[in-house]
Amino acid sequence: MDKLVSKYRGSRLGDSLKLSFEYFPPKSVTMERRLWRTVGQLELLNPDFFTVTYRSTDADRQLSLDTIAAVATESKIPTAGHLTCAGESREKVNNVARFFKKNGIRRIVALRGDARSGDVPKNEYAGAVELVEGLLKISDFDLSVAAYPETHPLALSDTADIDYLKRKLDAGAQRAITQFFFDPEVFLRFRDRAQHAGIEKPIVPGILPIHDIERVIAFGGRCGASVPTALAERFIRLQDDPSGQYHLAVEQGALLCEQLIREGVDAFHFYTLNQTDLSFAVCRQLGTMVEYLPMPAKIRKPLRNVPERSSFGVDAAI
Ligand code: FAD
Repeated sequence: MDKLVSKYRGSRLGDSLKLSFEYFPPKSVTMERRLWRTVGQLELLNPDFFTVTYRSTDADRQLSLDTIAAVATESKIPTAGHLTCAGESREKVNNVARFFKKNGIRRIVALRGDARSGDVPKNEYAGAVELVEGLLKISDFDLSVAAYPETHPLALSDTADIDYLKRKLDAGAQRAITQFFFDPEVFLRFRDRAQHAGIEKPIVPGILPIHDIERVIAFGGRCGASVPTALAERFIRLQDDPSGQYHLAVEQGALLCEQLIREGVDAFHFYTLNQTDLSFAVCRQLGTMVEYLPMPAKIRKPLRNVPERSSFGVDAAI
């Protein structure tokens, strides 16, 4: 570690935080460049790990695997592959886990995912609990599972949702990472209920810096994450001012984290949406130290199956 950095390390709020950053597979050359720029920038914060999302459709599976393997190979930061099991045979899911193991990927974010219309394969994992159990039979993976501060839309009740989360953690997952939320009270009440239900493993808040308020509201509506009206209005008032929106997003993300840090939270998972700067700026605002100077960009083998132009739009994954 550089002398100047070691002198100040530990003296600032952000230095003691455990950070992880999530990316999604790029669907065009432009988006691939942005992914690597973002990875390179966030490496400077020396996070605990990166994660890369997974889509199990035939069109997306290979790109997901290529991206997970490429980030794991190119970055010095440990990388987790997300893995979903809904609508897939156990064998297919297990083969992906074996692919991770073969490529030195020891961390998995284990998810049920969302079932697709069409035939349900026989012998699929019934849900994330069974997936966690199945993955641990293949290797001693470090597993994270998903948690929902505002309750999963398919849960029978708040209590049933927390009970199911406990089952996932008791099955052997190391930690839960939450769906994004914008009101610290939402997370703190959820953490209280989880503790009351006997959950002792870490619940890491998922932080989504707001890059586009309309998309965030639409996406939140689909996955049961609400955006407080007053916050939405602040962004909408700045709709003709991209720079103002950017600064508000940084301020809002840092304020949310600061409020949680005051309540004892010491780990954050950032949904980066492959956006260069935003998550980095929030962490810097919290005082997280940059560890080393940027390395010159390496010449990387392009990811396979990435078309020159995307038909999905820049932020297709949100
Ligand atoms: P589960 O935990 O299996 O089930 C979701 C909820 O359903 C539970 O919380 C519980 O309330 C209820 N439930 C399920 N089974 C039972 C049961 N037997 N008894 C009682 N209640 C039950 N999606 C992707 O496609 N790719 C990704 O890479 C991806 N990454 C994600 C990362 C994070 C951190 C999060 C929070 C979500 C991610 N998602 C991803 C979305 C996720 O796949 C969806 O939210 C999906 O609907 C649920 O997956 P799960 O693993 O939480 O499911």
